[in-house]
Amino acid sequence: MILTYKIKHNRDFSEELQKARKVAEFGIKHRTLSSKDVAHIGLKSMISNQILRKYARNKKVKSVKNIKLTIPNQGIKIDADKHIIRIPCVKLALEYQFPEFEKINQIELGKTFAYVSVTIPENDIQNPTNYVGVDRNTTGHIATVANPETGKVWKLGKKGLHIHTKYKNIRKSLQKKGKYRKVKQIKDRESRIVKDLNHKISKKIVEIAVQNNSGIKLEDLTGIRQTAKQRKSFRYSLNSWSFYQLQQFIEYKAKLQGVEVVYIDPHYTSKSCSRCGLIGNRNGKHFKCPSCGHVDHADINAAFNIAVKDVNVDQSIEERDSIEGNTDIPKEALGSADGSILLS
Ligand SMILES: [Zn+2]
Repeated sequence: MILTYKIKHNRDFSEELQKARKVAEFGIKHRTLSSKDVAHIGLKSMISNQILRKYARNKKVKSVKNIKLTIPNQGIKIDADKHIIRIPCVKLALEYQFPEFEKINQIELGKTFAYVSVTIPENDIQNPTNYVGVDRNTTGHIATVANPETGKVWKLGKKGLHIHTKYKNIRKSLQKKGKYRKVKQIKDRESRIVKDLNHKISKKIVEIAVQNNSGIKLEDLTGIRQTAKQRKSFRYSLNSWSFYQLQQFIEYKAKLQGVEVVYIDPHYTSKSCSRCGLIGNRNGKHFKCPSCGHVDHADINAAFNIAVKDVNVDQSIEERDSIEGNTDIPKEALGSADGSILLS
């Protein structure tokens, strides 16, 4: 699996980035792949080579956007004992925190961050005998996890809705005052807090699955078109990127641990009774089944339903990935251009 880690480099590369832009523009204009042709610009030939490959080779690329300095694998040295990556050609040392890896594919240096593309070894996915169900469409917590084998329930991320509401209100009042720069800052701050929370929750969910020798079942919510009524009930996040980010974090963390993640059709997961399977009454946080008398917290009832529901075999990964067309999700939440997951 390829993951891209984002590391702050604390260096001013504006001069090099300017040269890189010139190299890219030259490449687009003259369609040359030889770094000798751009030697006059004065960028290191190793980097020029990479930039020309990216911009000059593909005739569809007609303009330079978001230029970065691309360092290939050969230009990277790793000091594993000290957890330091060295890039001699620009005299940069980066401290890294990420776990055991097979190799570093490349590093892209932007204005503020280094994007380190790393190949991480994967564990074989174990065929689980049972699943924990994760309900993300919850009334209070970001996720509710249930294990039908043991009856145990975990409620994770209590602060989620609170954070969302708090920052939404701050944004609203700033917007009214016309403080748009501040709005952006607040948005970024919320993103960081939610991202951190999603990392913790996804880690916990995968831990639960490992400890219970189970797979993870999630609802496939990408196919749902939101009606006004649904939108109201999807309090935390269906139309927000944080929701997909959590899903993505669960997927890659599960993959690293060899835990299977499967998706089920979300219809009736919140309306059915997890004890008898018949349709019950859901009212906010409360679920009550008129048929068998079962009473439960609505999220817990849903999580149990998800855990035992059959996997929809027709579902393809492509279908799930169609969320990439959703403009509500910032690019960062979806990963980088090479399809890897972007982390920081
Ligand atoms: Zn029932």
